[in-house]
Amino acid sequence: MEIRYKSTRSDREAIPASQAILRGLSDEGGLFVPERIPALGRPLAELAQMDYRQVACEVMKLYLGDFTEEELRDCIAGAYDGKFDTEAVAPLAKVGDTYYLELFHGPTIAFKDMALSILPYLMTTAMKKNGVSRETVILTATSGDTGKAALAGFADVPGTRIIVFYPRDGVSEIQKRQMLTQKGANVAVVGVNGNFDDCQNGVKEIFGNKALGEEMARAGLAFSSANSINIGRLVPQIVYYVYAYASLLREGEIADGEPINIAVPTGNFGNILAAYYARQMGLPVKKLICASNENKVLYDFFSTGAYDRNRPFILTSSPSMDILISSNLERLVYETAGCDAQATAALMKSLAAEGSYRISEEMRARLAPFFGGFATEEEAARKISDTFARCGYVMDTHTAVAAAVADAYRRETEDGTKMLVVSTASPYKFAPSILKALSPEDEAGTAFDSVDTLARLSRMPVPAAVEELRDAPVLHHLHCEADQMEEQVRKLLAL
Ligand SMILES: *Cc1c(COP(=O)(O)O)cnc(C)c1O
Repeated sequence: MEIRYKSTRSDREAIPASQAILRGLSDEGGLFVPERIPALGRPLAELAQMDYRQVACEVMKLYLGDFTEEELRDCIAGAYDGKFDTEAVAPLAKVGDTYYLELFHGPTIAFKDMALSILPYLMTTAMKKNGVSRETVILTATSGDTGKAALAGFADVPGTRIIVFYPRDGVSEIQKRQMLTQKGANVAVVGVNGNFDDCQNGVKEIFGNKALGEEMARAGLAFSSANSINIGRLVPQIVYYVYAYASLLREGEIADGEPINIAVPTGNFGNILAAYYARQMGLPVKKLICASNENKVLYDFFSTGAYDRNRPFILTSSPSMDILISSNLERLVYETAGCDAQATAALMKSLAAEGSYRISEEMRARLAPFFGGFATEEEAARKISDTFARCGYVMDTHTAVAAAVADAYRRETEDGTKMLVVSTASPYKFAPSILKALSPEDEAGTAFDSVDTLARLSRMPVPAAVEELRDAPVLHHLHCEADQMEEQVRKLLAL
């Protein structure tokens, strides 16, 4: 039976995967979730013999039931090709007693590439399947990495346009340059005087604006989302967890069926939710370690059952995790509420109105697979320098948050289960912060000075994605206040 998708906030009829991808959000502002989570279709030992693309097909066909296998194979072949600088696509590095799953080998050197290199293919295939003739306008809020990955994915894709909103002072210099130098006739980039939550709320409001939606339809346009609220982002992210386990098995690092722990540097809760889905599919995972930076709203949620965004927003050296409203948590809340859409809608209403909600004890009990932790700026920096000193391995600032929390988990629980840390960005993307951790006396100059110093220290090759930024011209100059985002969209679309 083909899996259909329903909203976390209503009991309306479920829709096929391709329609959920096109719509992004449900009409009531809910997120689409699969009616049930499928079991892995093949034994792990068989998956261990497959390459990334084959595993992707095996996993994704279970979720995207109204795509033919041929359509899926085409999407996968278009996405996971020479854009990735390694044949493995998502390679593992063994560093001391920890495995790092490197998800930064794509065109924009952060893990968002894993899903955003395939989303445009899924979306254009879904448009064809559903006879959509309207142009799709992708609206995206970014904390830094999604923006560039979505721009790169959708640039000059026929039938689509993309508008990206980013917090003007909340992204790294390299992230900003990556976005502002993006080519393509269908792309726009707008800096917002606000933080990521302002950008995300602005985009959600635009999606929810019925009058605007009708005007769009008259103009032959329709919105969709490339944020991780889109199920077309989430499904491709399940793949690399299955692939990582299969790789450990193939390399003889674990026995078939041996459980592992997975630590994920978390912001919007998309990446770790994909790990949770993989676990529910039967992947042998013991604990899902949810690692936050100093914006530790998720740590507090896991330790108290109360979600409360009413707190100062802290700018850290892991900007892609500087988030106080983790959108994808709604999918987990729905799951722990026993798939009760009314209960979920009520909690989300409270989040919108009061900035907080509390789940019941019964729901909390269902969070047992998770361990919440956080790392301070100092702890993350120390993890970067210690690991380099002891093992010669350089990790980025986001990955360091997860690695530090994984250490704390092992100390606290004495759980010796093998540990997979998800590595979400190339250290070069955040070179000044990495350098500050490794060698404070070298700090100074531009981001590119830091890149050069880091290259000298680490002897890691500088990725092409960074090299080509050095003299790329800046093509985008738009910016606005948080309450002018709709106006910007209207101008850009000539509405
Ligand atoms: C987006 C991002 C994260 C957070 O992932 P979520 O799915 O939002 O939890 C962590 N690290 C990096 C480098 C990112 O770009």
